[in-house]
Amino acid sequence: MMLPRIVVAGNGQLGQMLQQAGAPMQLQVMPVEPNQDIEIALHSDDVITVEIEHWPDTVTGLQLKNHPNFRNAGALHAVIDRKRQKSLLDRLQVPTAPWVVLDDEATLEEDLTGLGERAVVKRRRGGYDGRGQWRWQSGGEVESEWAGTCIAEAMIPFSHEVSLVGARNAAGEKVFYPLTRNWHENGILRASVAGIDVPEIQQQHAEQWLSRIMDDQEYIGVMAMECFVVDGDLLVNELAPRVHNSGHWTQEGATISQFELHLRALADLPLLTPEVKGVSVMYNLLGRNWKPQWLGIDGIHVHWYGKSLRPGRKVGHVNINRPDPAKLGESLQKLLAQVDDEDRVAIQWSLDQL
Ligand code: ATP
Ligand code: MG
Repeated sequence: MMLPRIVVAGNGQLGQMLQQAGAPMQLQVMPVEPNQDIEIALHSDDVITVEIEHWPDTVTGLQLKNHPNFRNAGALHAVIDRKRQKSLLDRLQVPTAPWVVLDDEATLEEDLTGLGERAVVKRRRGGYDGRGQWRWQSGGEVESEWAGTCIAEAMIPFSHEVSLVGARNAAGEKVFYPLTRNWHENGILRASVAGIDVPEIQQQHAEQWLSRIMDDQEYIGVMAMECFVVDGDLLVNELAPRVHNSGHWTQEGATISQFELHLRALADLPLLTPEVKGVSVMYNLLGRNWKPQWLGIDGIHVHWYGKSLRPGRKVGHVNINRPDPAKLGESLQKLLAQVDDEDRVAIQWSLDQL
């Protein structure tokens, strides 16, 4: 059987985990660094996907972008600029935080005040993990550099954050995981919990909206949608046209991981709704090593990316998967006693969600 080779633009952990997901099927996945001026050997039947959203027009970068099987160019174009992304959500009538484009320096204060007492200013391009963001409140300083480079959103008083990970294939079939509950600190994902009860209405709305977005973009592969929970319903925060950190729990917590699901959609293999196995917690290792003794705790799986340690850098994650909340609680209690102080808050938050 001939499966296409999947070439991934970007060679970080997401590409690595896509490669791991393809390995059992001998589905070849080749991550490539796009930011280099080297001519790489691509086949005409390769399928090109991404783990990052933008890269410069280098020799390799252009080769990837111009390949006839480069997938989801339209969705990437729409998502990499927050103005375009928010406009897409508005056009598709997907509820999102009220927002404005900050264009004119002279009206910055007025534009922000129009959103209410507090706002979040976000750089239109290039932000991630909370970078390129500022919190503003009425009477506070405005920065002239915001004009022309940023959008602003009303500060949403959410009760918590959730995300939906789904996939669509070329025939337009779509499948979804249940909503994952996420905890961010300083704009960076610390922990996720999945397999716990989710209000039906939230799941329904999230699936409807992500379906609308993926269909509109004729999207192929996995897409993630981050949401705020407000008064029991959802507001969409942002989209990620790729596999997503909040879906990492699916590696051990579902019959098909988000990485395999993405490959299935790209290679046009059967798409099935993944079944969730028990309850899962994922927490990110931010600039910290893991400890071998953790492997003595039931249900723990360590995923280490092989990167060098830098403060706050995502260098790995830990999935803990157990058949039920009580057992997961036992594992988390054990882990709590073994992790560094900085990770204790993430584990404690996870325990509180069960
Ligand atoms: P990612 O790494 O997920 O791509 P990011 O840096 O692109 O993150 P956002 O997801 O827009 O940025 O924001 C990061 C976090 O900041 C959110 O998960 C949320 O906790 C908080 N945040 C963002 N926008 C708002 C808002 N309008 N109201 C309240 N909190 C917000
Ligand atoms: Mg985000």
